[in-house]
Amino acid sequence: MAHELDDIRAQTECPVCGGDLNVSYKTMRLGRTVECPTCGETIRPIDDTPIGKIQKLIDEA
Ligand SMILES: [Zn+2]
Repeated sequence: MAHELDDIRAQTECPVCGGDLNVSYKTMRLGRTVECPTCGETIRPIDDTPIGKIQKLIDEA
């Protein structure tokens, strides 16, 4: 299966309010946005959170 990692969910924090965000691998892989449940801000995890930075490192490796 090509995308069997998609169900993996990572916990990170909202760059705006610091609240908890749950982001699936699929969301990051597709560069999708998520809405912060705490402040309602639209976040792009691949750009805005530490896991996005980690993902970029993996992609570049
Ligand atoms: Zn927030």
